[in-house]
Amino acid sequence: VPADWQPDALELQGKNILITGASSGIGRCVAIECAKHGATVILLGRNEEKLAQVYDEIVQQGYPEPMMYILDLATATIDDYQTLARAVEEELEQLDVLLLNAAILGQRSPISSFKPEIWQQTMKTNVDSCFYLCRYLLPSIQKSESGRVLFTSSSVGRTGRAYWGAYAVSKFAVEGLMQTLADELENISTIRVNSINPKGTQSAMRAQAYPAENPQTIKSPEQLTPLYLYLMSKHSQHIHGQMIDY
Ligand code: NDP
Repeated sequence: VPADWQPDALELQGKNILITGASSGIGRCVAIECAKHGATVILLGRNEEKLAQVYDEIVQQGYPEPMMYILDLATATIDDYQTLARAVEEELEQLDVLLLNAAILGQRSPISSFKPEIWQQTMKTNVDSCFYLCRYLLPSIQKSESGRVLFTSSSVGRTGRAYWGAYAVSKFAVEGLMQTLADELENISTIRVNSINPKGTQSAMRAQAYPAENPQTIKSPEQLTPLYLYLMSKHSQHIHGQMIDY
C-alpha cells in the first residue's frame, strides 16, 4: 500500500459497504470516512443508540444516507443472518464491500482458568459471525464488479501471546477464514479478500486491554482510514489473500 496514498473526494462513490462494529472505534471512523467518499454505508451493530449517532453524523455532514442494521453477533442465529442477506438483496443491487470488524476482547486470562462461557461468546462474536456473513452475503458480493471482503485482525492473530486467550485464537481463525476464502476465490478477479492488522489504535477495546496506557501515545482511528479505503478501492485489485499490517 503506497505510504502517501490519499483517496479522491469520491473514491467510493456508488459503492455499498457493510461494516460490522460500526458503532464505535475503528468501525465507526471507517464508516464515516466511507460515506464522506461517496459510499452508502450499512452500519451494523448491537447498540441502536450508538449506531443512530453515527447515522446522524453522516446525514448531518450531507454524505449519502446510510442504513442501520441492528444485530447482536454474540446471539445471532442462522435465521438472523439469512434475514440480513435477504434484506441486502432486496434493498441493494449488490454489496461491494464487506468489512468484518466487530469483535470483543473477552477475558485476559491464562487458558487454565479461562471462563468457558466467555470463550464461547468471544468465538461467536469474533469468528462465527465472520463465517455466517461471508456464507450468506457472498452472492451479493459476487454481483459487484469490484467486490472486497476485509477482515480486521490483530497481532495476536499471527503470533500467540500469553493471557490473550479466546481473542488471540479468534483472530487466528479470522486469518484462516480470510486465507481459505481468498484461495477459493483466487480465479474470480472481481473479488479481493484481505485482512488488516491495525495495531495499537485509540478505542474502547484498546483501553480495556491496556488500562494504564495514555491514549495520546498511540494513533487515532482517523490515521488508519487511508489504508482501509485503499483496500476497498479499485487501486487494490492486485492485493489478494494478504495479511496487511498498518
Ligand atoms: P471497539 O470496542 O471500539 O469496537 C468494537 C466494535 O465491535 C464496536 O462497534 C462494538 O459494538 C462491536 N461489537 C462488539 N460485540 C458485538 C456484538 N455482539 N454484536 C455486534 N457488534 C459488536 O474497538 P476497536 O475499534 O479497537 O475494534 C475494532 C476491531 O479492531 C476489532 O476487530 C479489534 O479486534 C481490532 N483491533 C483493534 C486494535 C486496537 O488497538 N484498537 C488492535 C488490533 C485489532 P458496541 O459499540 O456496541 O460495543
